[in-house]
Amino acid sequence: MTRIIHGIDVGGTKIELVSHDEDLRPLHRRRIDTPTQGIQAFIEAVAGLVQEADDRVGVAAAIGVGIPGFVDPRTGCHVSANIPALRGQRVPPMLQARLKRPVQVANDCHCFALSEAHGGAAARFDSMFGLVIGTGAAGGYCVNGRLLKGSNGALGETGHTPISAAVLQRHGLPLFDCACGQRGCLERYVSGSGLQAIYTHLSGEQRDGQAIMALADAGDATARQALAVHVDVLASSLASLVLHLDPGAIVLGGGLSQLGHLYEQLPDQVTRHLVRGMVAPPILPPAFGDAGGTRGAAVLALSLLPVEEARPC
Ligand SMILES: [Zn+2]
Repeated sequence: MTRIIHGIDVGGTKIELVSHDEDLRPLHRRRIDTPTQGIQAFIEAVAGLVQEADDRVGVAAAIGVGIPGFVDPRTGCHVSANIPALRGQRVPPMLQARLKRPVQVANDCHCFALSEAHGGAAARFDSMFGLVIGTGAAGGYCVNGRLLKGSNGALGETGHTPISAAVLQRHGLPLFDCACGQRGCLERYVSGSGLQAIYTHLSGEQRDGQAIMALADAGDATARQALAVHVDVLASSLASLVLHLDPGAIVLGGGLSQLGHLYEQLPDQVTRHLVRGMVAPPILPPAFGDAGGTRGAAVLALSLLPVEEARPC
């Protein structure tokens, strides 16, 4: 019997469902706005998407869901910075009860890594780290195609490790505050808003990422310096990642993964930050781009164990 999987990618503004066949080929796609009225509205919105997709593919399909944040292992409750409706809720059992079938749920950046490890850019490597650099900076680590989630379920929250003091000093950068409550988190320097903050620090002017790229292309010295500082901070953070996990490959995702200069400059720059005798692993663009979230959620539904039964928070 043909297996069909709905991969659902939950974002701060949009929820996307893509139905896949067992070879992860997309069959049906639908995207809606993320409800802002609370957890019940969220559950009902997902249920509506699933019902429509079930009708389209003619079967009650398996379901995998990628969601920002992670589950607190002490309470089973969701910790999410950018979807307030999910905060403190036991999302997987609630979805499972409403959808009347097992539902596999993981962090959205973990799903990105799973997708690139399964038939993606890192398919030929035994281990890989997928790092999503967009509005934030977080990733997932896969070994032999299996996602390692860590004891907090938060392995790969690279964006909330501190910037190196040496890099901070070299560029005269300030310690930026982070929404997580810490100061100097890498996310505040290597994400899209991080690049803008570096540019503003150097120039005193506000520009979005596209404007900074256009200025750099036109030869603007400050924009070029901002990009160079950004690459140096990112290289330093990837070197730290390599020293901890030594993955066979690193795949970049998110909006900044489209910046071609990263793939030209990062390998040498990461190597420069490593212990002598070590070299950076291949640093690769994603094979599936924006489709990685829903595709990875589909992989999740094939490969992970069932979630726990519902208990009240
Ligand atoms: Zn932080």
